[in-house]
Amino acid sequence: LQRSVLTYIEGYDPGIFPQDAEERYGIAGGQVTNLASNENPYKPPGSVLEAIETSIGQVNRYPDPGYRELKGELSRYTGLPPENIALGNGSTEILDMVCKVFIDPFDRISIISPSYTMYALMGMIRESTIEFVETRENGYRIDVDFLMKRARDSKMIFLCSPNNPTGMVLGDGQLEEILADAEGMVLLDEAYAEFAGISAIDLVADHPNLVVTRSMSKFFSLAGLRVGYCIAGADIVENLEKVRQPFSISSIGEAAATAALREVPYYEKMREVLLSEREHLVEKISRIPGLYPYPSRANFLMVRVDPGLSDIVESLMSMGVLVRDIGGLSGLDGPHIRITVGTPGENEILLSSLEKVTS
Ligand code: PMP
Repeated sequence: LQRSVLTYIEGYDPGIFPQDAEERYGIAGGQVTNLASNENPYKPPGSVLEAIETSIGQVNRYPDPGYRELKGELSRYTGLPPENIALGNGSTEILDMVCKVFIDPFDRISIISPSYTMYALMGMIRESTIEFVETRENGYRIDVDFLMKRARDSKMIFLCSPNNPTGMVLGDGQLEEILADAEGMVLLDEAYAEFAGISAIDLVADHPNLVVTRSMSKFFSLAGLRVGYCIAGADIVENLEKVRQPFSISSIGEAAATAALREVPYYEKMREVLLSEREHLVEKISRIPGLYPYPSRANFLMVRVDPGLSDIVESLMSMGVLVRDIGGLSGLDGPHIRITVGTPGENEILLSSLEKVTS
């Protein structure tokens, strides 16, 4: 009785987590250097932790169904009115909501490849026809002409900038070209936008075919609380709200995200550290034989790995260092890993472990 489409769908692969290192190698969670999930290694500031503590005292109550406080702060942060902002339980729920609003069975959707695997998973659940538009031939950058040829008749084009896992951003003017040419909607995933310092949210006002999704999980260090949002035309936001589960953002998540948005200068300081660490990692890793890092605008790096080092992820894991094996990702050729930028101490552990496993 279960829908037949599910027999073709593999669930989302979250990669390895500290609990896996504990199970496989007996390494206690606290001893693991986790650079596998693109999280922010720094905790939120004290005011956010206090807001969380205060909200714990009210967990017997539902959150405000209109999430007015959080929407107000997001409006201030983005410079856009609350009518253009929809919330979700992480940007993952927003992706699901967007698919529910726009995608019918057999609709064509186009997804740049390689990219975040959830777009395809959600498209499959909606029984859409998926066109993967490869970027490998173009050094993982988008070729707009090629994309638009392949994306003809698409109900939605999925883009991600900075793109997970490549770390690359859309080129100047590319999004405008795509928006002008697209027959359907364009979804731009900006989960990592703050690390690149560029965003397309201001284009939403003049482009009714654009939806931009954002996350509180990365720059704002709130991955465990699951808060995301998107910027879109008011009519789209209204429908997104219809398909969202009521109260899907918890009261603790709302309180934390609201407080975090009041601490932008704190997060900007952390970003300075992470960006300079990212450049340090690129430089050091590029000197390790067999490893070829790509330039990145996000808080992670994609690294091509010589085939002789294809067990690198497991070797690092046995030493308590977690990075993401992205070798099997469609649109990538051969072994690759993705490394999240950690604290300076974590990055030193990573570098010395990389030296050991490659020597
Ligand atoms: N988009 C991209 C590109 C991501 O990498 C992630 C997290 N891995 C998400 C969206 C989802 O993030 P969240 O649901 O935590 O907001």
